[in-house]
Amino acid sequence: MRQVALPGGERVPALGLGTWGMGEARRGAADEAAALTLGIELGMTLIDTAEMYGEGGAEELVGKVIAGRRQSLFIVSKVYPHNATRPGAIAACERSLKRLGTDRIDLYLLHWRGEVPLAETLEGFLELRRSGKIRHYGVSNLDTADMEEWCALAGGEATATDQVLYNLSRRGVEWELLPWLRRHGMPVMAYSPIEQGRLLRHRALAAVARRHDATPAQIALAWLIRQEGVIAIPKAALPQHARENRRALDITLSAEDLAELDQGFPPPRRAEPLAML
Ligand code: NAP
Repeated sequence: MRQVALPGGERVPALGLGTWGMGEARRGAADEAAALTLGIELGMTLIDTAEMYGEGGAEELVGKVIAGRRQSLFIVSKVYPHNATRPGAIAACERSLKRLGTDRIDLYLLHWRGEVPLAETLEGFLELRRSGKIRHYGVSNLDTADMEEWCALAGGEATATDQVLYNLSRRGVEWELLPWLRRHGMPVMAYSPIEQGRLLRHRALAAVARRHDATPAQIALAWLIRQEGVIAIPKAALPQHARENRRALDITLSAEDLAELDQGFPPPRRAEPLAML
């Protein structure tokens, strides 16, 4: 499995497993659990979840799947902005730990910026790290100016990642945020890497996929993770999708492929505000 280094040197898989929309209904739960289990067996040992997903349902599902194999996994979860005061973040993390059935979260993120001052959230994260309940902390949906503010706070320099919307059809981050993260030695975690399935019908993607005897989803993922410091976390509730996504790691895109993808999905020509879903 290709890996990406976090600041501080720990290495995590470049391809992980998303869980948004999982754990919401009993129907589909068996497939969801099977897809996550298969994904783990195939080496996608980074699992992204959040207290928001299914209002705890996704964390509970992840808890069931990881029971007995926690050691080899890297679990990411997120705190709601309205819970992200110092005591609120600590309490939310403890609830997440209970649902996940584990004593530590590997990476804990502020889901997006809300009303709570960033300094309070970071104090909560530092306390959680001191007590061993989280190993790393980071943020999500923060644009460059917010990153500057966050990283200037005490402890901000140890931030592990910014998880943002990034895929072929959402390249705005390439203008400023990605170079900023690279300069600060921070990987980006690309969420909705296949634009929740909407990317898959795009003509440019289909043409490149045909050349590689691959699927559009595999090309979209290969395009992201070919870049240094990019982690992609596709969500697959179906085992066949998890298997298909894993094969993205075996694809090497040529200069011709990249040029064709640039034509179909032009890179940004000016600054634009960070998009989020
Ligand atoms: P996504 O991963 O881009 O797309 C998921 C959709 O694509 C699902 O409908 C899935 O179907 C389908 N799919 C997956 N693999 C496929 C394949 N090989 N062929 C065809 N269809 C395929 O969207 P996402 O769930 O929004 O994003 C991924 C993860 O990022 C989330 O689950 C979540 O963990 C995280 N996220 C974070 C934020 C944030 O604010 N921080 C926001 C959004 C997402 P099936 O499920 O039926 O297999």
